[in-house]
Amino acid sequence: MEYRRLGSTGLKVSALSYGAWVTFGRQVGRSEARELIALAYDHGVNFFDNAETYNAGDAERLMGDVIADLRLPRDAYTVSSKVYFGATETPKPTQRGLSRKHVFDACHQALQRLRVDYLDMYFCHRADPDTPVEETVLAMDTLVRQGKVMYWGTSEWSADLIEEAHRVARERNLVAPSMEQPQYNLLHRERFEREYASLYDRYGMGTTIWSPLASGLLTGKYNDGVPDDSRLGHPDYAWLRDALLENDGARLKAVRALAPIADDLGIPLARLSLAWCLKNPNVSTVILGASRTSQLEENLRALDAVPLLDEAVMARIAAALS
Ligand code: NDP
Repeated sequence: MEYRRLGSTGLKVSALSYGAWVTFGRQVGRSEARELIALAYDHGVNFFDNAETYNAGDAERLMGDVIADLRLPRDAYTVSSKVYFGATETPKPTQRGLSRKHVFDACHQALQRLRVDYLDMYFCHRADPDTPVEETVLAMDTLVRQGKVMYWGTSEWSADLIEEAHRVARERNLVAPSMEQPQYNLLHRERFEREYASLYDRYGMGTTIWSPLASGLLTGKYNDGVPDDSRLGHPDYAWLRDALLENDGARLKAVRALAPIADDLGIPLARLSLAWCLKNPNVSTVILGASRTSQLEENLRALDAVPLLDEAVMARIAAALS
């Protein structure tokens, strides 16, 4: 495993980490979750990603139970939560958003579900147009000073809003955000590469990137239809299937164009796709999703493939995506 600094912080996160969205509490029960976390940890993964909203809190409960069961030493791993969407299917007005109240309530509930005394990373899962940025920055600052959160960050905030959070923090001497959690993969690059370009140096912004395989599209498993036992085949995720497979199959066309490059390198497309994310120095950690140990075993091999991505291969990838 390789360890990278989370932006300009002193925290060293594994370049490959593991997240619970969709899988924990829906596709995966206690015994599979235990195997997946144990496998990741044994391969050097030290960051486990979660959120209040993942399966209405069940993903955090399951992860907390499993980590406690495995007796992972608290100082050897990091765990996150995210606040915004709420932890129930139908949250009441005070049970979602980034108000000071909900940021506090959600943090305390995540600590209980995850069975920890502090969160290593706590993200604002989206921007909240109904709460002043200043209120949220102040709430996060308080949680950090109370020792309940080590580092706070954002997820899918605009660059302008991240700038605004830093301005508020600077002017009021509050703790500023350390990291952002954006989607980043071969099929989704604009925000990470262009919109955020100036933030990496200016603020030492770390990144914990999500959906590195575009929910599995970049494995090639959807090239010939949607398997029943896959994420996009799950009835609750029809919205995701429609979103990813829209545009007359433009994404699948790109996936098919990338496949021969992986073939020529003698590696699966998933490994190539993850290695491409890892090659970007602005990526602190690539959050893997996997519903089976066989997938996780495969994906954990991605670091070995990074040296294969020389200039010629990167040029072929760029041409395939153009
Ligand atoms: P991926 O893009 O890697 O998708 C993971 C899914 O792809 C798996 O669950 C599996 O689905 C399939 N898959 C993965 N590897 C393979 C393989 N080798 N062969 C075949 N199929 C494979 O990641 P996620 O979308 O899960 O995102 C990773 C994490 O990022 C999440 O768990 C979550 O923690 C975080 N996240 C954060 C968001 C945010 O807004 N901040 C949003 C989304 C995710 P299956 O077996 O079911 O088909």
